[in-house]
Amino acid sequence: MICVKLEGHDFKYQVEDVIKLFFYNEDIAYVDEFPADFKGIFVLIRIAGADGSLAEKKEDSLNDDKIYIELWRDGINIYNSGNNIAPVSTPRDIKKHIHKKKLKMELKRQLYLVFKFLTGKSMPWGILTGIRPAKIVHEMLEMSYTEDSISDSLKGYYMVKEDKAEVLLNVAKKEKAILDLASPNSVSIYIGIPFCTTRCLYCSFTSNPISLSSDIVKKYMDALMVEMAKTASIINRNGWSVQSIYIGGGTPTSIDEKSLNRLLSYVGSTFDTGNLEEFTLEAGRPDSLNIDKLSIIKASRVDRISINPQSMNDDVLKAIGRNHTARDIEWAFRKAREIGFDNINMDIIAGLPGESAQMFNKSLERILELSPDSLTVHTLSIKRGSKLIDDKTSHTDISNGEIEEMVGAAAEYAYRMGMKPYYLYRQKNILGNLENIGYSTEGHESIYNIQIMEEKQPIIAMGAGAVTKMVYPEENRIERVFNVKSVNEYIQRIDEMVARKETIM
Ligand code: SF4
Repeated sequence: MICVKLEGHDFKYQVEDVIKLFFYNEDIAYVDEFPADFKGIFVLIRIAGADGSLAEKKEDSLNDDKIYIELWRDGINIYNSGNNIAPVSTPRDIKKHIHKKKLKMELKRQLYLVFKFLTGKSMPWGILTGIRPAKIVHEMLEMSYTEDSISDSLKGYYMVKEDKAEVLLNVAKKEKAILDLASPNSVSIYIGIPFCTTRCLYCSFTSNPISLSSDIVKKYMDALMVEMAKTASIINRNGWSVQSIYIGGGTPTSIDEKSLNRLLSYVGSTFDTGNLEEFTLEAGRPDSLNIDKLSIIKASRVDRISINPQSMNDDVLKAIGRNHTARDIEWAFRKAREIGFDNINMDIIAGLPGESAQMFNKSLERILELSPDSLTVHTLSIKRGSKLIDDKTSHTDISNGEIEEMVGAAAEYAYRMGMKPYYLYRQKNILGNLENIGYSTEGHESIYNIQIMEEKQPIIAMGAGAVTKMVYPEENRIERVFNVKSVNEYIQRIDEMVARKETIM
């Protein structure tokens, strides 16, 4: 347990972000007083003006706020930031929320340094704890910062390690080149098929076992078509053009051939695909694929598929709840190539239970032989809603050093396959505080992946659990509307889902 006392502010989110970097498994308790006889870590974080008045009580807290931190272990004071601290200054004509943003970031910096001092550890991404670290680089690129100054800022102010800073800058530049090509009135479309053959141990998505859901698939497709038809007419009415379509889930190929054909035909006939640049379908699991389904997909507008091994070790596949072998993955990949797919992504996860760095390398070796067009390397994250979260022991036996070794090996293999990193994101509770990173050969970068990550374009999403995002870059504002996650509720409340969407589109 770590006890925290906040004075003059309520920046709990930032405080927890930093504490969890160093003490993932510790609970955090907020207290009003130093607990008597407390054994453990106690942190006091006070924000006050130069005159000592607490920031939240001052009429105008601009210009002179200072962040004071005291750290106590087992009742003994081991750190005190003292009085000689530079204030966080913001000119008085700048809006208060900007000053608050600066204060929050500085608080993270100061707290990070205190915990670095306490533990002797530093984190690969420094204080960049958010999901989208490339956004900061995009902001700096837009403000015409030079590459050197961006790199210095990442390594200095944000305390990102050198190799991560380099990859982040390269990713942001690659993304920018692709983002700049999108027309201003373009949107991307997401369609969710929330069924899978079995549920993976780490899954937190809307995914229902198809064997228990086959009688509901038709009703789901009927409801989805209502939402698609209405959405297409709103898109047309607004004069938007569809740049990319992504059908995910779940695993869309887990539905039967007839339903898959119906889905793809309906998408093709309902949305205006005249300006479409990319159409991805997740064909993630080989136990959901056969030649007929691959042929149906090939006959549609889909031009990018994802066949996702996650691991090429049979024991690991079994342990994570997958009903197939590595040879099944190879079969599906080779069949897809034979049928003519020339843009195939593969996903792999570093840190799966029971998979050592050596075994992970074996997976990479087999992927190298297949030579996909892009490779997405995930680091395992323990998510709410997954079976894995209940079983903390199965994922704590792997060291940060070993995870870093795996992620480094994946990068090497990606380079050997002629790929470069093109998009990147982070997740909460990700092992080793690392990242997920997409590598691609030239010209096979996924537009949709970049758009969803950098939030420069509306994503119009349909299906159970789908989230539509309207983006207003000039106002620095995003509006979201959520569909219900339950398949049954989605079917029953489809008119409400459509109406919700209409309120923001
Ligand atoms: S294949 Fe993906 S969506 Fe399906 S259960 Fe596994 S992680 Fe979840």
